Amino acid sequence: MLKKVLIANRGEIAVRIVRACAEMNIRSVAIYTEPDRYALHVKRADEAYSLGEEPLAGYLDPLRIVNLALETGCDAIHPGYGFLSENANFAKLCEEKGITFIGPKSSVIHKMGDKTQARDSMRAAGVPVTPGSDGNLKDLNEALELAEKIGYPVMVKATSGGGGRGIRRCDSAEELKVQYPRVISEATKAFGSAEVFMEKCIVDPLHIEVQILADSHGNVVHLYERDCSIQRRNQKLIEIAPSPQLTPEQRQYIGGLGVKAAQAVGYENAGTVEFLISGNEVYFMEMNTRVQVEHTITEQITGVDIVREQLQIASGMPLSFAQKDIHYRGFALQFRINAEDPKNDFLPSFGRISHYYAPGGPGVRVDTAIYTGYEIPPYFDSMCLKLVVWALNWDHVIERGQRALDDMRLHGIKTTAQYYQQILKHPDFQGANFNTSFVPSHPELLNYSVKRHPSEVALAIASAIAAHAGW
Ligand code: ADP
Ligand code: ADP
Ligand code: MG
Repeated sequence: MLKKVLIANRGEIAVRIVRACAEMNIRSVAIYTEPDRYALHVKRADEAYSLGEEPLAGYLDPLRIVNLALETGCDAIHPGYGFLSENANFAKLCEEKGITFIGPKSSVIHKMGDKTQARDSMRAAGVPVTPGSDGNLKDLNEALELAEKIGYPVMVKATSGGGGRGIRRCDSAEELKVQYPRVISEATKAFGSAEVFMEKCIVDPLHIEVQILADSHGNVVHLYERDCSIQRRNQKLIEIAPSPQLTPEQRQYIGGLGVKAAQAVGYENAGTVEFLISGNEVYFMEMNTRVQVEHTITEQITGVDIVREQLQIASGMPLSFAQKDIHYRGFALQFRINAEDPKNDFLPSFGRISHYYAPGGPGVRVDTAIYTGYEIPPYFDSMCLKLVVWALNWDHVIERGQRALDDMRLHGIKTTAQYYQQILKHPDFQGANFNTSFVPSHPELLNYSVKRHPSEVALAIASAIAAHAGW
């Protein structure tokens, strides 16, 4: 079993990994940059080391991180999600320096991180992929020709994209001409690669993804699926497990496809295979070769601790269960509580959390790194808390979600919490009848009146008086 793990991440996922290590008697080492000096992952890990003043550079420096792991006697690195988690060079450096990278082999990350290569591998393995370009697009002319062939609407996508960025829908040749250079420039800026490719736009699909676990002994299982169709700008907001929209046959089929995809590339550790579903058609979209933000809901319905499994797999242990041993029960929802103002085009709302009161009670789980008095730094992701609820059936999980969102008090910043209440009230959500167009086709859900807690109102009045009096 691993003895000491460096966590190359921050925020809630770093805390999540510290917790798994603590339960397994594995020592944990945190890293941080100056804006994170008072962050929870720094306080909670067994050891913590500063990687300098610059907010991001330290978290993105493979050599420094691997050297620190060696210096502090770690035998493994957990990359979390985002940052270096899907950086094949980082995983390769770990391999070269004899540190276990908690994830698949660097060659697999390389293959699956490149969306066009991933599509090729899946085609070869007999997994259906979204119709589109064979590889990357050479230029606009090729894009225009191909779009005529596959038919509008089409999507132009960054080959190394992620986090919902570098994706544009084009409904006509005119739009394609405008969007094509935009995606290239976005891809270059965000991912350091100008490569783009094209897919047919699947209109109003479900985003369904399959959680995979694979050990180093050739065993691969799936932990059923998640429905992540509730998205804004191709980014997930509310995730659901299992999907309330699949038939048992579809569930079995897609789970099998996930396993097939993982087997085809010699996958190891935890991973997710993402699909789009439209009617009876299922299309492979991409594979995320890391733990996902929404792994929590799969944990709630299956009882499997995914991060613990990651650590065991990385230790060389075989999976402790077979496919037939994995069952799910009830439904789980995850709300990504972002420090954003939904009423102002979801603009980030960073600042000091003046008051935080955690929701609780039956079936409620909170994964976060915030606390009262914590200042959310502006340099990182705006997601500040994951609220997860579980209940035996669909109606109850919605009621529980409403209650838990209501329980939570998070003052000092604007968040997406109240907006989620509006989504939960909508008959199409309640009737399990939604797809990736739900959010954009219901702008009226943003017309809620902002609820302010009496203590917040008192604070606002006090500061107004103070300002007026010139205090
Ligand atoms: P998940 O697939 O787990 O739902 P997201 O797509 O929300 O994850 O991404 C999780 C985090 O990782 C976000 O902070 C996102 O910005 C970041 N991220 C994901 N993919 C990439 C990538 N290719 N390059 C840079 N950051 C990424
Ligand atoms: P990322 O790496 O940023 O997660 P994905 O390829 O997983 O990018 O796509 C993110 C989201 O964009 C999907 O969940 C879906 O809503 C939308 N999307 C991507 N490709 C298509 C497509 N071909 N047709 C329709 N929607 C798509
Ligand atoms: Mg994706």
